Amino acid sequence: MSALPPGSTIGIIGAGQLGRMLGVAAAQLGYRIHVFAPRPGPACDVNNAFTQAEYDDDAALAEFAKSVDVVTYEFENIEADPIARLGELVPVRPSAKALAIAQDRTKEKRFVEKLGGRAAPWREVTSRAELDAAIAEIGCPAILKTIRFGYDGKGQARLASADDADAAWDAIGGNPAILEGFVAFDHEFSIVLARGMDGGHVSYPPPLNGHDDGILARSTVPAPAEVAAQWTEAAALAGRVADALDYVGVLTLEFFAGKDGPIFNEMAPRVHNSGHWTIEGAVTSQFENHIRAICGLPLGSTAVTGSRVEMENLIGDQAERWEQIIAEPEAHLHLYGKSEIREGRKMGHVTRVWR
Ligand code: AMP
Repeated sequence: MSALPPGSTIGIIGAGQLGRMLGVAAAQLGYRIHVFAPRPGPACDVNNAFTQAEYDDDAALAEFAKSVDVVTYEFENIEADPIARLGELVPVRPSAKALAIAQDRTKEKRFVEKLGGRAAPWREVTSRAELDAAIAEIGCPAILKTIRFGYDGKGQARLASADDADAAWDAIGGNPAILEGFVAFDHEFSIVLARGMDGGHVSYPPPLNGHDDGILARSTVPAPAEVAAQWTEAAALAGRVADALDYVGVLTLEFFAGKDGPIFNEMAPRVHNSGHWTIEGAVTSQFENHIRAICGLPLGSTAVTGSRVEMENLIGDQAERWEQIIAEPEAHLHLYGKSEIREGRKMGHVTRVWR
C-alpha cells in the first residue's frame, strides 16, 4: 500500500457541504481538490477545479478521471453504474459496490442483517396491494419509506393505522418502498467509523442524535449511559459491515437504542452530519480521517477533546443567529455559503466544546 503524496488531486463527486468540509480537510493535508457535480455548490468555494456535468455523463467522468488520483463521493443519490465504470479508470473509494448497497433500503437491511445486525421488522412494498399485505403482517404504527432517494425524513409517511394506507401510498408517490415497524426507542445514535486501506479501523464515540421533523437537529457527546452501553455491539457491527465491503473511508451506521440492544436504521457510505462535531470535538475529524483513508495514510485518533461536545444544525432561518453564535466563547460556527435560505435547508452548524 503506498500513500498518495501531498500535491495529489482528490476528485469529489458532489458539491454540497460535505464536499466543502472534505475539501478543507484535504487542503490542510496538502492535497488538491477537483469537484464534479451538475451544479456549483458549497464545495466550489474550496476547490481547485470544477467539472459541471451530470453524474451519469460517462464522457465527462472519463475526462475527470484523467485529472485526479483518487475519487470519493459525498452523497449516495447517484447511480452506482457510472461510478463503477469510473472505478475502472481511477481508484474510487469507497467502492461503487458500497454505494449500490447503501443507497437501497432493501439491500442495506439484508446486508446488515446477514452480518448479525437487527433491524425493525420490514417488508418490501412495490404496489398498493402489497402495502395492505405488509400492514397485515407487520401491523401499525409503521413507517413507509421509499427504497431510494430518501433523506432527512423525505420519502417517508407514517401510518397510525391501516386507514392511513391510501394517504401514505400517495405521500410517497407510489414509489418502490419498504414498510417498517415503528420502533419504540428513547434514543437515536450513530457509529461513524473510518476504515483504512490496510483494513484497520477506528470509530468515534457515538453521539446522541436528536431529530426535529426527521432532520438531524443536534448531536451530543458523550451520549447517555443507555447509548454508551450499546456502543461496543454497534461499533462491532459497523466494523463487520466495513470489512465485508472491503470499505475504504468513513462509513456511518444509524441506530435506535432499543430495550434489548441496538436496532439498525440505515447506513451512509460517507461522512455524516452526526459526525460534524468531530471537527473541533475530536483529535482527528471525520473529514480528515476520510481523506487519510482514501489516500492510504494512517488513520488519526478519534479521542474527544472536551468533557462535553454539542453540534447544533442551523436549519433554514436559524442561520440568521450567526452573529449571536459567534460571540459565544465555546462556539465554532460553520456556514456553508448557501445564498438562499429555505425551510428545512441545512445552512450551517455550530459546535460547542466544553473543556
Ligand atoms: P430515516 O430517514 O430512516 O433515518 O428516518 C428519519 C427519522 O425518522 C429517524 O431518525 C427517526 O427519528 C424516525 N424513524 C425512522 N424509522 C423509524 C422507525 N422504524 N421507528 C421509529 N422512528 C423511526
